[in-house]
Amino acid sequence: MSNLQITFFGGVGSVTGANFILQNNSTKIAVDCGLLQGTADADAENAKTFPYDPSTLDFLFITHAHMDHIGKVAKLVKDGFKGLVYSTPETKELSQLMLSDALQVMQIREQSEHLCVSNLTPNGSTFLYDQFDLSKTFSLWQTIPYHAEKKLTDEISVFVMDAGHILGSAMYKFTCNNKKIVFTGDSGNSPAPLLRDTDKITDADYLIMDSVYGDRNHEPKDERDEKFRRIVTETISAGGTLLIPAFSLERTQVILYELNNLIEDKKIPSVPVFLDAPLGEKVTEVYKKYTKDFNAEVQSEIKSGDDIFNFPKLNITHGHTDSMKIAHTPNPKIIIAGSGMSSGGRVLGHEINVLPDPKSTLLLMGYQALGTLGRTLQNKPKSAEIPVGRNSETQTVRVNARIEMISGYSSHKDLDHLVEMVGDTTETVKKVFVVMGEPSASTFLVQRLREFLDVDAVYPERGKVYELN
Ligand SMILES: [Zn+2]
Repeated sequence: MSNLQITFFGGVGSVTGANFILQNNSTKIAVDCGLLQGTADADAENAKTFPYDPSTLDFLFITHAHMDHIGKVAKLVKDGFKGLVYSTPETKELSQLMLSDALQVMQIREQSEHLCVSNLTPNGSTFLYDQFDLSKTFSLWQTIPYHAEKKLTDEISVFVMDAGHILGSAMYKFTCNNKKIVFTGDSGNSPAPLLRDTDKITDADYLIMDSVYGDRNHEPKDERDEKFRRIVTETISAGGTLLIPAFSLERTQVILYELNNLIEDKKIPSVPVFLDAPLGEKVTEVYKKYTKDFNAEVQSEIKSGDDIFNFPKLNITHGHTDSMKIAHTPNPKIIIAGSGMSSGGRVLGHEINVLPDPKSTLLLMGYQALGTLGRTLQNKPKSAEIPVGRNSETQTVRVNARIEMISGYSSHKDLDHLVEMVGDTTETVKKVFVVMGEPSASTFLVQRLREFLDVDAVYPERGKVYELN
């Protein structure tokens, strides 16, 4: 094989929007096709035509079902992609939930009376894709299980490794002419509460790796668990509400699992817990189907009869009326609601009720992107503007509640563990491409890899072709 090349079309200069193309003379493989998120121009950027012709791609490999890795797959199909999409079965199932939910959100935005013109795509619609594109996408979508090898062409095969990031997350090792090119997608923060550890990469010639936390470390597991227990206990003792904005995928399941353990071990008092996240509930059902992907400790808990996502006093709410009734349940109580960065969803209604109460706590358990309400709240303001309704109206609320933050439940590897991951393959690796991080985090990691491991690490340029020969 000749002319093996890689080009980075997204996920460089930002955490989100992953989209890479690996190609030789005869085959073109895209890895991930995600949404750009969290920047002011994200909507406009996402609506742009692809900087390559989607009809020339043979394959699209999806590492995992986060929107910054799958959000534009149906747009790629709409714009002409006719090849095959591959992922693990878990990722296919989760992607169906995530992309259908995103389409619903786009439809709600379209119906909104005071639609802001800047939300419109060049063809005058807020839709990146419609139901037809979505159905077509899943008709092209095939699955490969973990640790299976698949021959794609006479020259190229792929091996699926466990990334340990969220359920179904994969790292792909492509073999072309005895060269091994590994895409990590997002590599997990192992040991994770539910999932197995990230598989070790030991024979990569070229490594394309994530770097969200390329410049810092998380609090250690023991410290993280103790902090969570303390915040829950203190809020319950104060007689307040503990409100946790949570991402539907992985974080919601981890919180349910941790609460289940704390309650069963009698480390916290049993109080009403509300899961007020319809998408989170659907995702939890998928997690229950794939318990084989959980780590040995969780597997043995399940074998011993523990229903790991369920405990006494857990209430799962469905309709909006039920959601509003939660406020009338006397304190102390715990509410888990989407979205994880308070950028929409049912958590907003709860924030209006909870933030003015000095006995209550808002607990942020995930990354809060710049420009989101979550990030504003993280900075502990005296008051905050909470969106109400669909017409960009807001309600001013006093922030008297405690605001707490735990980063240790992140599903991304931190600096030391990213370096350790590359350290496993220093004997074979010829070049490491550091992507999917803010520029400061990616360039810090590049420097660290060069200094600590003496590897050729680079922070690639968007759109530039890199030869792998
Ligand atoms: Zn991810």
